[in-house]
Amino acid sequence: MIPHHDFLALSRAHEWQLEPFSFSLPHGDRVEVWDTGVLLIDPLHAGHRAQIISCGIHGNETAPIELCNQLLGRLLAGELRACHKTLFIFGNPAAMNLAVREVEENLNRLFSGAHSRGAGHHNRERQRAARLEQYVERFFAGESRERCHYDLHTAIRDSRYEKFAVYPYLGEARSYSQEQVRFLAACGVRTFLLSASPTTTFSYFSSSRCQAHGFTVELGKVRPFGENDMSRFADTYAALEALVTEDALPAAPWQRDEYRFFAIARVLNKHSDAFRFLFDDDVANFTAFSRGTVLAEDGDLRYQVEAEAEAVVFPNAKVAIGQRTVLLVVPTTLWQ
Ligand SMILES: [Zn+2]
Repeated sequence: MIPHHDFLALSRAHEWQLEPFSFSLPHGDRVEVWDTGVLLIDPLHAGHRAQIISCGIHGNETAPIELCNQLLGRLLAGELRACHKTLFIFGNPAAMNLAVREVEENLNRLFSGAHSRGAGHHNRERQRAARLEQYVERFFAGESRERCHYDLHTAIRDSRYEKFAVYPYLGEARSYSQEQVRFLAACGVRTFLLSASPTTTFSYFSSSRCQAHGFTVELGKVRPFGENDMSRFADTYAALEALVTEDALPAAPWQRDEYRFFAIARVLNKHSDAFRFLFDDDVANFTAFSRGTVLAEDGDLRYQVEAEAEAVVFPNAKVAIGQRTVLLVVPTTLWQ
């Protein structure tokens, strides 16, 4: 039903919409295509997790897209068999075809209802965000299994820590999961950013709205399709394959010294077109600056490092007014 078991190619051929269809794999497990880039594998004897693996929310973040399509292709071909109910999402096929991050608007700023805020804004990414929210809610509706969502990305710039994950704000009632952190370590991620407030990302939506263990996972630096050194993702691929095909969650041991946690101390938003950073354009994520250093100016506003040291993550001055330009983070600890 899916030519060459290549769901990514089918999705890229139907950029914004694909009529739903379903079929069974030879061993009886169900496959349901819900839309372009959205495919459910529902095993006959599903295990104790209901999990979403998403990628390509930004169209040019190719390595996770290739990893997911490789895994999904092997499942569809019958070389591997899913143990858990798994929803695969390729977020923005139209942007992939253009080799750009977004067609009109950053999809990962449009969740938790942001797609419907702001007068006069209608574009395809907003429609897509609204539909992806519906698919996530449908997937988790009435679900008593453990809920997980891993949203896979690559960063625009180099990083002192190549792979890292953003742990969305959990509110007062929920606590961090060491088991989930250890799973991400099996993926090669040992650096975690603990978010301190609600946001409009995909992983925060699943976490807050559906009580899933949700993460934005950054796997390295953006490169064009076919130019990724896939050996850098071998541990990630192996962990994702085990996530889908094995009963137990693959997890690295807990060794405190091997994990790094940062708290998001401040978020700088852009107030005017005069916003500019005072550090080099090519500074790596997690580069730290000491107290008093002026990091950015925005008209009359000047932003200095307030703590003993603050490190910059995701600096990007070329965002729309009102959007985030950078996260400022400070080291913290968990489970000490
Ligand atoms: Zn991204």
